[in-house]
Amino acid sequence: MANPGVARAVEYRIRHADGSWRYVDSVGVNLLGDPSVSGVVVNYRDVTKRKEAEEALKKSEERFRTTFEDAPVGVALVGLDGRRFRANRSLCEMLGCSEEDLLGENYLEHVHPDDRQISTEHFQRVLEEEAERYELERRYLRADGHVVWNLTSVSLIRDSEGNPIHFICLHQDITERKEAEKRLRYQATHDLLTDLPNRHLFMDRLKLALRLTRRTRGRKVAVLYMDLDNFKVVNDSLGHDAGDLLLVAVGERVRWCLRPEDTLARFGGDEFAVLLEEAEAPSDAAKVAERIVERFKAPLVVEGREFVIRPSIGIALGEARQKTAEDLLRDADTAMYQAKGRDDDYRVFDPAMYEQALRRLKLENDLRRAIEDEEFVVCYQPIVNLQTGEASGVEALVRWEHPDQQGLLAPSQFISVAEESGLVVPMGRWVLEEACRQGAKWQQEHPHIPPLVMAGNLSAKQLQHPDVAETVEEILEKTGFDARCLSLDITETVYIEALEGNTAALDKLKKMGVCISIDDFGTGYSSLASLKRLPAETLKIDKSFIKGIGEDVEDTAIVRMIIELAHTLGMEVIAEGVESKEQAEQLKEMGCDRGQGFYFAKPLAPEAVPVFLIR
Ligand code: C2E
Ligand code: CA
Repeated sequence: MANPGVARAVEYRIRHADGSWRYVDSVGVNLLGDPSVSGVVVNYRDVTKRKEAEEALKKSEERFRTTFEDAPVGVALVGLDGRRFRANRSLCEMLGCSEEDLLGENYLEHVHPDDRQISTEHFQRVLEEEAERYELERRYLRADGHVVWNLTSVSLIRDSEGNPIHFICLHQDITERKEAEKRLRYQATHDLLTDLPNRHLFMDRLKLALRLTRRTRGRKVAVLYMDLDNFKVVNDSLGHDAGDLLLVAVGERVRWCLRPEDTLARFGGDEFAVLLEEAEAPSDAAKVAERIVERFKAPLVVEGREFVIRPSIGIALGEARQKTAEDLLRDADTAMYQAKGRDDDYRVFDPAMYEQALRRLKLENDLRRAIEDEEFVVCYQPIVNLQTGEASGVEALVRWEHPDQQGLLAPSQFISVAEESGLVVPMGRWVLEEACRQGAKWQQEHPHIPPLVMAGNLSAKQLQHPDVAETVEEILEKTGFDARCLSLDITETVYIEALEGNTAALDKLKKMGVCISIDDFGTGYSSLASLKRLPAETLKIDKSFIKGIGEDVEDTAIVRMIIELAHTLGMEVIAEGVESKEQAEQLKEMGCDRGQGFYFAKPLAPEAVPVFLIR
């Protein structure tokens, strides 16, 4: 400080008496030339407070910079004009571009075009001070064209006076969550096996399509409901994995018959449904059904094996003014049921079917009650040895003493419903037990009569029941009836199906000593050669062939051939439905072993049987 004047301010630390360091700002003034002072005057100002504040600001700025830069979420600062003036690393990575690309551009630039509108609306609301901040799920487009789902929260930053200065935007990548949600949504509306829409989605689309019929006069929607007649047999014999493959193949085949805008859904099991959103007349839907049926004539190949699958289809048409989605589906289901019952490929619903379905439902309920209240009785039709003329056995035939009906109901009036509803299983069990008890009783009461063979009928559902052999075993034990005197009738078709599936039950029954008879033989169109595979003891020729004996040359020849062939294979033959002396004599001449029919006796009440036997 050699020259007179004011020196530069110097900042340094001095120690305070309390031991702490204080910042001071010192300014020296050279007054050496002034004789009244002849010295240097130094002014000190304690600036510790200011220094500390500056330090704190510097630190906080640094902290902000590192937080901003290293934040795991994307952060950007956007000016009130919508231009971005800062962007952190995470945001650059998320959008796949450099900081330079992002700075200076409008914040909408990278937003997916479809989400721009909603973004602008939110931004505007904050600008117009309707809100302080907003949060939005929207899509961004990465530089490479990929879509990233983003949860953006935008807040307005104000200065100390409360004036808005800029926005801070936080961007979180939620693509994974969004995709998981999408997957879940897909799974909730689709069948996992075939990838087709499920019932839920089908109903949504059906409701929507119905709503549209309100707009156009004459416009209708059509529903086709379909199931596969023989799928269960295939599924059981092939195993479930192959059954699954078959269902996938079925789905693909049906899809082929449809237009892209038609919905094909799988409802589970072997049930499929088709929605035609615009149909004018039943014939439109019938054409589709015909196409499907036609296509299924060719076999499906699964694991190298060929299967001919036969669909049954029910069709229902309607418009919103008359039907709800549920109505339509129920109608189509009813029509499908009818198609099945009448062996048609498809049927179009008509209201009479509904009446019939109701009647059927009532019958099913009545049957359920009948089983509980034991309203059934068993009649016994003698089976006669044609060569000796003596009775060799009886067939147990069920009758229903319906409380609202006069007389007894014949099986033709209820067996099919019992079969379809599965009620035939408990009913059949009751019949068999009753028959065995009766058989044992006759043997006890009439020891001089040679033991009679008791024949009982086993339907498809009964045979498919996993416990069928055990049930028979239990019944024999309970009634004390000899297994070797029991014969079970299984119709030809059911028997062949059983052979293609699981034969364990049949094997077990035979091991127990129970006889197996093939019932209604000749109606199932099984080739005579397949007889060789049938390990049954008895063959019952269907009454339709017996009717023609002596009159119809062909029938006579067929009966003769069946008898000879069965004998070659070591089987016995029973002729069913023998109604005349001529038939009985001709059958005897042909070498037929036994006969059953009105000529010998009608099905008899239990007390009438011993009378017949003794005569
Ligand atoms: P199915 O096993 O073929 O029984 C013979 C049927 O032919 C009986 O009819 C019998 O009454 C009838 N029939 C006997 N002789 C003659 C004849 O000379 N001429 C004519 N036209 N018919 C004759 P039903 O009792 O009405 O039984 C019908 C069918 O119902 C049976 O046919 C059998 O498949 C089934 N069914 C009867 N009872 C039972 C049962 O307890 N369980 C099961 N699962 N099915 C049964
Ligand atoms: Ca029978």
